[in-house]
Amino acid sequence: MAANDVYVYDFAEGNKDMADLLGGKGANLAEMTNLGLPVPPGFTITTEACRAYLATGREPDGLAEQIDAHLAALEEARGKRLGDAADPLLVSVRSGARFSMPGMMETVLNVGLNDESVSGLAAQAGGDERFAWDSYRRLIQMFGKTVCEVPGEEFEHALEEAKRARDTHNDLDLGADDLRALVDSYKKIFTKHTGREFPQDAREQLNLAICAVFESWHAERAILYRRQERIPADLGTAVNVVAMVFGNLGPDSGTGVAFTRDPASGTQGIYGDYLANAQGEDVVAGIRNTIPLQELERLDKKSYDELLGIMSKLESHYRDLCDIEFTIEQGKLWMLQTRVGKRTAAAAFIIAGQLVDEGLIDLDEAVRRVNGAQLGQLMFPRFDLSDEPKALAKGVGASPGAAVGKAVFDAKRAVELAKEGEPVILVRRETNPDDLPGMIAAQGILTSRGGKTSHAAVVARGMGKTCVCGADTLEVDTRGKKFTVDGRVIAEGEVISIDGTTGSVYIGEVPVRPSAVVRYFEGEIESTEDALVKAVHRIMSHADGARRLRVRTNADTGEDAARARRFGAEGIGLCRTEHMFLGDRRELVERLILARTDGERQEALDALLPLQRADFLEIFQAMDGLPVTVRLIDPPLHEFLPPLEELAVSVAVAHERGEDVAKAEAMLAAVRRIHEQNPMLGLRGVRLGLVIPGLFAMQVRAIAQAAAECKRNGGNPCPEIMVPLVGAVQELETVRAEAERIIADAGAEDVSIGTMIEVPRAALTSGQIAEAAEFFSFGTNDLTQMAWGFSRDDVEGAFFWRYIELGIFGISPFESIDRDGVGRLVRIAVDEGRAARPDLKLGVCGEHGGDPESVHFFHEVGLDYVSCSPFRVPIARLEAGRAAI
Ligand code: ADP
Ligand code: MG
Ligand code: MG
Repeated sequence: MAANDVYVYDFAEGNKDMADLLGGKGANLAEMTNLGLPVPPGFTITTEACRAYLATGREPDGLAEQIDAHLAALEEARGKRLGDAADPLLVSVRSGARFSMPGMMETVLNVGLNDESVSGLAAQAGGDERFAWDSYRRLIQMFGKTVCEVPGEEFEHALEEAKRARDTHNDLDLGADDLRALVDSYKKIFTKHTGREFPQDAREQLNLAICAVFESWHAERAILYRRQERIPADLGTAVNVVAMVFGNLGPDSGTGVAFTRDPASGTQGIYGDYLANAQGEDVVAGIRNTIPLQELERLDKKSYDELLGIMSKLESHYRDLCDIEFTIEQGKLWMLQTRVGKRTAAAAFIIAGQLVDEGLIDLDEAVRRVNGAQLGQLMFPRFDLSDEPKALAKGVGASPGAAVGKAVFDAKRAVELAKEGEPVILVRRETNPDDLPGMIAAQGILTSRGGKTSHAAVVARGMGKTCVCGADTLEVDTRGKKFTVDGRVIAEGEVISIDGTTGSVYIGEVPVRPSAVVRYFEGEIESTEDALVKAVHRIMSHADGARRLRVRTNADTGEDAARARRFGAEGIGLCRTEHMFLGDRRELVERLILARTDGERQEALDALLPLQRADFLEIFQAMDGLPVTVRLIDPPLHEFLPPLEELAVSVAVAHERGEDVAKAEAMLAAVRRIHEQNPMLGLRGVRLGLVIPGLFAMQVRAIAQAAAECKRNGGNPCPEIMVPLVGAVQELETVRAEAERIIADAGAEDVSIGTMIEVPRAALTSGQIAEAAEFFSFGTNDLTQMAWGFSRDDVEGAFFWRYIELGIFGISPFESIDRDGVGRLVRIAVDEGRAARPDLKLGVCGEHGGDPESVHFFHEVGLDYVSCSPFRVPIARLEAGRAAI
């Protein structure tokens, strides 16, 4: 690395767009400095220096000199020197990566204090010994804990003991002598754990703290977090060195946090907490009770007014809700941090709308500021909390929804009760693959261990099931069939309610309210009826106007189709026909499969034809004027017959009893005949059509006749016939030749024929396949399954959590498209398909069609539409708009 690399930036030299180099905190401190806000002076050591340090294990050449130079400038600006016994400069050392990251090293305040400068600090504070010793003990505590890994509890115990000796719970009751004695105890704790004296050299303190921040990039928790959040591992963190200002200098000092508007509702106003005579983390640590920010007006009107002015300046500058940290030192306000603040899903929409009204952002920006995941959260039913039920416990909201049911503690019991029609919540310490049946049977899942990527969380999200995990105050006793929280026992059968969005757990049944956003999509309430719905309406309309991707739905019935249309679907991208063979029609299918002669088979098909025709007619009517892609039958036939074992047993039993078993035996023989080891790779899709005479023909005829009838009735049907599981163009050509004849016979017009691209070979030979297909629809479920060789029905619950833990993937590839692998197959098929047939229509009908990340990918590769379940249609619309803006 060249010796003239710049590793250190003064706050005055940076700005908010330099977060890659200066980290989020550093970039925003620089931005505030340049806005002329009262930020204590300081400098930022770059992420590049961190990367160099981590690569070589030592500080890069030139870094020490640059720190010295910037420190000298800081000393100059403050008129004090680091480590000076008589008049010391103190600094804080603060980590700050590009993305905020739990597990990274925390901040060390009051660096520069030692046995001598503590008196100098007291002198600066007008002889306030108490303040000086309080600051010193905080340094040893924070430095010990975060730089030298001394267990924090030891310091906390010592502090508790000092308070007990004074018979108080309030740290303000400790006097200078108490705190001086506490410093002694702290130093002993420090030496006991580190084998060395607490460093007295201020520059050494600073250096050790900086290196510790660098090294914390590799802390285990930080590594894990990055893997899970898919944050690159090589970014490194910046380090901010900031001149200290003191909120613990008496009653006219204090520290606080604030939001520029309510992060829960978006309402404008004063939201924050303030704590007088306190430093740094005291506000959030809950050491003493904070006061609402409004009360600061009474305590210190001047600082209060200045703060409000700054908050409004920050809002208009960042054009967004900001959160801030500030400190008041003897009546002088200092800004210590700001960033664009986190918010709830509802607030995200409302705030975006408000900012448009205020002229701070335009609608394009408003669409960018919200996302499909937030919209999805708003579409779940919610608990009605107007009676303010008290939460029994709080965990991580791992999979959204509001679930109510009887607590049960094992999977088997969950399945039993669910069979009796009882809603249940499965409660476990953590889940494992054995719990799967119980998870499926339950309304929701509650665990006391694990986070957003635990087995419970991953599986629940995959199933769209409500889940709260890591509620760590719960003591789950599976054997005793109960859990305990704060001494309260909840036994099996007691009703609980869990909120998968907020992570709250309640005793008893909390009433559930339908989502206002869904009611708006359903047309049950007007867009002007409430603030949230109004904002959603406005943002969705703009996204619809901007998007290039069309959004269709996966629907198999007229009812689903009609609902999806209300949600904004512009056609059906996948109409599965297999459900049309279930229920009382199963018998016809059995006859079809068991047929021994062509005549018997044709009879069964003839009986199915009018039924299918009626199904299609209903769907074409519901989607009048919009395209409807009908997929010919796809699953292996054994799915329509009883399971082999069950059948074998009942035949044996019947035989024993001397009953007539001829028919059952014939069935058993058929089931044996079509039994497959790997049915998903077996006789299904187009293979069925080619092997079972008349089956596809019957379906094509039903579609063509329904279309012709619909047209005769004055409708405008737009059917598209889709052939599943094609791997070779010859398969499609064979089906196509017959289908064209049938369509012509039925007198139907404008029926297009295309194929799914879901077998890797189809993607790889898409140029050939396009010659026989008017459209491609990517079946990304099967394509993922076959590209990875993962059996979708088996692997997700079995080991995906482990793969996520190991960082092999950040999210299940069935949840969000694997861009590098499966996505590559999609790209190949798009390019080669379009090259062969420029007007080839391209869409996707796998689960990924409604996944926000994946929608952006499909936009990028130039598909014409995505298709997803009705509920996800609005999410896809929004994300398609965001992708285009
Ligand atoms: P975090 O990212 O955990 O909030 P910070 O670096 O922001 O860590 O610092 C922790 C606390 O210390 C915050 O309350 C912050 O305002 C306070 N703090 C940091 N630097 C200073 C300073 N130079 N003077 C006074 N307080 C500070
Ligand atoms: Mg902070
Ligand atoms: Mg498929």
